Amino acid sequence: MPLTLYVDGDRWRAHQRSVVASFPGIVPVCKGNGYGFGNARLAAEAQALGADLIAVGTYEEVPAAAEVFDGEILVLSPWRPFVEIADKHPVIHTASRLADLEALAEPTGPKPRVIIELLTSMRRHGIPAAELDQIAPLLDGVDSLGWALHLPLTTAGAHGAEVERWIGLLRAAGLPLERLFVSHVTSAELASLSAKHPELTIRPRIGTALWLKKDQLYRAQAHVLDVHPVKRGDRFGYRQRRVPGDGSIVVVAGGTANGIALEAPSHVADLRTRAKVLAASGLEAAGRALSPYTIAGRRRWFAEPPHQQVSMIFVPSNIAVPAVGDELDVNVGMTLTTFDRIVFS
Ligand SMILES: *Cc1c(COP(=O)(O)O)cnc(C)c1O
Repeated sequence: MPLTLYVDGDRWRAHQRSVVASFPGIVPVCKGNGYGFGNARLAAEAQALGADLIAVGTYEEVPAAAEVFDGEILVLSPWRPFVEIADKHPVIHTASRLADLEALAEPTGPKPRVIIELLTSMRRHGIPAAELDQIAPLLDGVDSLGWALHLPLTTAGAHGAEVERWIGLLRAAGLPLERLFVSHVTSAELASLSAKHPELTIRPRIGTALWLKKDQLYRAQAHVLDVHPVKRGDRFGYRQRRVPGDGSIVVVAGGTANGIALEAPSHVADLRTRAKVLAASGLEAAGRALSPYTIAGRRRWFAEPPHQQVSMIFVPSNIAVPAVGDELDVNVGMTLTTFDRIVFS
């Protein structure tokens, strides 16, 4: 009796292949909640796509990906002295500080493979331009595979100048430059950068655009688990609230454990509605909060804030009430949701 993600496998995979075709050298990103699909599933899809390299978010995500993916694994979170790694050689590390690059260097044995991240306008992680002249002596201790540029989303399409600036800075500092890993470039930017720099291997790291598409390639549905007729004023639920009118309490699959109502879905454009949905996430909702569940063509109100694995919805008596076992459309954010099961058709 689960919250289910139904995936049109053929169309989903056709979409993946079209993205791969427009982003030569793509590094599929399989991280976090696996964009709703789970990381092991994404790593298996990347394997089927023929990827030689995937990126995971954290060191903790490496083992699950390595179980299904035969190629190389890059960790996007930069290495820090406190990360716990069983064996630091099989993965490709991201080094984003001079001190870490130094610490990663092995005096003996195989050199750890690293990508060196530079501090772009994102200002998340990376070595700043002013420190480029200190990198060269540290390269001896590692097997450096290239440079990483993580670029902002809102400026996608206008990244050319920033990438060119870094290429110029690396060359001016006399650093070896053969391979560049970029995040959030458009396919047009990638094509133009590759055309301008045939001597460089440019590899885009892509998650969202590869796995997600707002085009009914997949949909979330939840089973109706119970339906209880109620009269105005009847009490119900953990909080023993009174129902606002005659109708039904509909108990549906999906709750906070799945990520239901933890955050307002981004396409709830109306700010008041967003605020209400957000209030529910703290389980403090004073009034009503719009649920992501659709009944009779419209999203309905939560009767009370969602629980771990079920939610209670109030359906007024003038609306056709669903039956136990029916499945309702649920409007969820893919990167926020953990599904109980994923069904491919
Ligand atoms: C998550 C991440 C990506 C992938 O981002 P999407 O927007 O999902 O394509 C790329 N690069 C870095 C450094 C990331 O952390």
